[in-house]
Amino acid sequence: MRTAPACAVLACLAVFPACKRSGGPVVRETTAMDTYVTITVYDENLPAEKIHSAIDSAFAEIRRIEGFASDYSDSSEIGRANLLAGRDSLLISAELAALLRTSFAYSDSSGGAFDITVGPLEVLWNILALHPRVPPPDSVQSALRLVGYRRVALHGRTLYLPRRGMRLDLGAIGKGYAVDRATEVLAKAGIDRAIVDMGGNLAVRWPGAQGWDSVVATISVRHPRIEGSFLGTFRYGSGGVSTSGDYERCFIAGGRRYHHIMDPATGYPAQGVVSVTVVAPTAADADAISTTVFVLGRGKGMEFIRKTPGVDGFIVYEQGDTLGIDYSPGFRGRFSPGGAQAPSRPRSNARSYD
Ligand code: ADP
Ligand code: MG
Repeated sequence: MRTAPACAVLACLAVFPACKRSGGPVVRETTAMDTYVTITVYDENLPAEKIHSAIDSAFAEIRRIEGFASDYSDSSEIGRANLLAGRDSLLISAELAALLRTSFAYSDSSGGAFDITVGPLEVLWNILALHPRVPPPDSVQSALRLVGYRRVALHGRTLYLPRRGMRLDLGAIGKGYAVDRATEVLAKAGIDRAIVDMGGNLAVRWPGAQGWDSVVATISVRHPRIEGSFLGTFRYGSGGVSTSGDYERCFIAGGRRYHHIMDPATGYPAQGVVSVTVVAPTAADADAISTTVFVLGRGKGMEFIRKTPGVDGFIVYEQGDTLGIDYSPGFRGRFSPGGAQAPSRPRSNARSYD
């Protein structure tokens, strides 16, 4: 794993239990996939050793997923497939093949807005560089020729990227998938009530509390423009929650903001939206959909949320000097703007090179 640059830790959500208990929850934190991971267990009547050993297993599960899905490592399955692009195919695990198929299904349903072949664009834009620059248009066009999920050949477990330089990047779904799996590991270890938060991708597990029906957690959404503040809070039950924003990995040049969520149609960072928060049945769904909606923009993005069962969300956009918010029907009246001070996390890496 590449070590996380301290200034680039993604932090958009924080969670507090709606119902407080005597012993207090067990909270542990680590880093993985270039971001923070926080696991909070609310089964306070269980022996501490049982809780800690379950959390150890959940952390190990996240590292296992990072081990095959990371594009930073040349030895992961994704890293090896990327290295072999244009040269050879690779036999991948059934688990990765399934995750790739889920990703391609999102590409199909979003008309290509969600596309894990954006890797060459991420490399070109190199948002996390010390001095990121807007690349020349012809470089953007060259990188775009390597983007397109339909080019990927996946037959059973055999994966082949047909052009040299093609590069898969699971950055928009991997964290959500990992928190889902970690929550499953906690469940198998006898943990009933837990929240796994990985860089703003959350899986909430609380038996008997599904989605909006029975809310158990208060979720605070970070303010996309005011460091250290919350935009607001909402309450939710079991399921997945994710926020995608233009403020986490970004730079500003010529008065414009450039960030890490790419529009595969243009090769430039998607424009028009500041952040998208989505709730969905699983964290992997929420992760993929928040990115998809960000790329689709306000109109098509809200349509996408509305037509997807079990999904709600809100889209934050700039309106002159202030921010506007569009809510899907399920979110209306459920989001309370404002709130307490956000807990301190390393600052985002927004920088100005005007
Ligand atoms: P974060 O990783 O900040 O939580 P997202 O879930 O929105 O935010 O994922 C953004 C990441 O997804 C990028 O860093 C990149 O790895 C990848 N990505 C960028 N644009 C797209 C896209 N259009 N489709 C799929 N993945 C993308
Ligand atoms: Mg995402």
